[in-house]
Amino acid sequence: MVCARARVGGSGWRRRGAMSPGMSGVYVEGMVGMTVCRFCGGVVEGRGVDYCRGCYYRGATMSESSGACVVIGAMVASLPELVAGASVDHTGGGCFVVSARVVGEPGDVFVYVSEYSAVDDVPSDDHPWIVGVYDFRPDGTTRGVEGRDRDGDVVEYRSVDALMDGIRDAVALYRQGDALDWF
Ligand SMILES: [Zn+2]
Repeated sequence: MVCARARVGGSGWRRRGAMSPGMSGVYVEGMVGMTVCRFCGGVVEGRGVDYCRGCYYRGATMSESSGACVVIGAMVASLPELVAGASVDHTGGGCFVVSARVVGEPGDVFVYVSEYSAVDDVPSDDHPWIVGVYDFRPDGTTRGVEGRDRDGDVVEYRSVDALMDGIRDAVALYRQGDALDWF
């Protein structure tokens, strides 16, 4: 698992090459009050954070959360025949999921799981997760389906093991095809 925090750089004034005898009076001013992104080393635009906008939106910060780490680990360990390449994915609007490609499908089919819109907490009674599948169609459109029961309610999974079973069920449902209620 790559969930350890890698800290790079820092912030503050850096003035290098200050004038010294014999020089022509030219000096090089380094970074001025800038914070460096701890993930990519880029410039941080926001205040009070140490990661850049790009790294936030590619899920770098979320990939460090305990929920995402545990779920990705469980997917890699228990579903290698079913999914590959589990990672955190930003779906827009600050919502994140853990997603992985479904193995053995001819197109781009992914399973996703999340605590509705975040991936912070490990699945539990207090923090249920949901499961869905989406695919990218040859005509350029995307469609998806999330696990629902007979009453149309979204199915919630309250443990890691239950979530893994939910992923198996969702992929099996996807492979049935026609019975799905796509959105
Ligand atoms: Zn960054």
